[in-house]
Amino acid sequence: MPSQFKQALIQLNQTAELMKIGHDELEMLRKPDRVIEASLPVEMDDGSLKVFTGYRVQYNNIRGPYKGGIRFHPKVNLDEIKALAFWMMIKCAVVDIPYGGAKGGVTVDVKKISQKELERLSRAYIRGFADFIGPDIDIPAPDVYTNPQIMAWMMDEYSHIKGQNVYAVVTGKPVEVGGSLGRDTATGQGGFYIFEQLVKKIKLPKNKVAITVLGFGNVGANFALIASQAGYKVVAVSDSRGSIYQSAGLKIREVLAHKRNTGSVINFKGTKNIINDKLLSLPANVLVPAALENCITEYNVRKINVKIILELANGPLTPQAEKRLFKKGVVVIPDVLANAGGVVVSYFEWVQNIRHFYWESAKVEANLKNKMITALNQVWQTAEKYKVGLRTAAYIVAIEKLVKALKIRGI
Ligand code: NAD
Repeated sequence: MPSQFKQALIQLNQTAELMKIGHDELEMLRKPDRVIEASLPVEMDDGSLKVFTGYRVQYNNIRGPYKGGIRFHPKVNLDEIKALAFWMMIKCAVVDIPYGGAKGGVTVDVKKISQKELERLSRAYIRGFADFIGPDIDIPAPDVYTNPQIMAWMMDEYSHIKGQNVYAVVTGKPVEVGGSLGRDTATGQGGFYIFEQLVKKIKLPKNKVAITVLGFGNVGANFALIASQAGYKVVAVSDSRGSIYQSAGLKIREVLAHKRNTGSVINFKGTKNIINDKLLSLPANVLVPAALENCITEYNVRKINVKIILELANGPLTPQAEKRLFKKGVVVIPDVLANAGGVVVSYFEWVQNIRHFYWESAKVEANLKNKMITALNQVWQTAEKYKVGLRTAAYIVAIEKLVKALKIRGI
């Protein structure tokens, strides 16, 4: 399997060929502007010192400041962060918010460190990268295993360095310290707006929908809750320890409480525990990957029999798996569109911080819905025009905007 960044470049090259974009523009999009690696010394609770490795990749800022989350995960590596930064550039252009793309990460297993160590690591990350970020330069946000509390520590550390409150330096903060209403559920909510439109477009009766959700974290659990509250049947959910299945539909609020109490979705009353790989072959017509990259590969894609895949995770399908799904007529809503709700509300949060004027949640929701549906319609029309899948169409929409901005600014 090619590395994740190579996979991203394959997607870029294929789109560039279709669009016949010039050599110089393609060259500009093939490489990140800046790749930064920093050593992050952290005092551990036992008094010893541990030096973690942190990354920040600033892909480009053609359309606005760099923007992208920070991931804390034991498998974080530079190649992955480069791919994620590239996808952020595409995503911000697809949903038309004035940002470029970036991503950051630390190679760490957060389950093996204490809360105090996590706080010191989060602050060390900001000290390591403070010269390269800022409200008009590069604005981090949460990603896998980072959360609003971590964003609050990061904002606080940056504010100490600058000697004044700088709320707009990170998004995804708690509402008490400059966060936006609706940011915590935005990725799942945005994905749901897209899903609802799609169900209408392909005329799938609501009572025939059966959804499986792979990954029951911030994004997957919120999507499952919103979908079930809207009357859709969610028949299976999973986390890193296993999956649960109930053909009549799960009571998602209760599953959430069970996960909070026990640390996992497994062993939830009235459901069957199954291994994660089996979730793919369950009788359902919508699959929502919401865990990590490359969960669906050429080795397990055969098991999938759904009509729709809503990619709430970044990069959950390998290109080989996607080719097979395309041949089978499965509609794949690509990550760069499906999970863009998070960065859209991050943008709203940044605007609110800069203007010191905070929105009601109805305003956040209405603006998010508008952004998501406009982007879906634009991608849908592009797919019809070029006779391509929705991922390629989303890339075309994004790259057209990027190339236009690049030409106007001058390379
Ligand atoms: P999270 O850490 O809150 O949740 C991840 C979930 O996936 C956890 O429940 C974990 O147990 C589960 N998981 C891990 N490995 C698994 C496996 N092999 N099988 C099944 N489940 C597994 O992270 P999140 O913030 O929900 O992010 C999930 C995905 O969504 C990532 O790809 C992330 O990049 C993407 N994303 C997140 C946001 C956001 O706003 N948080 C925005 C856009 C995209």
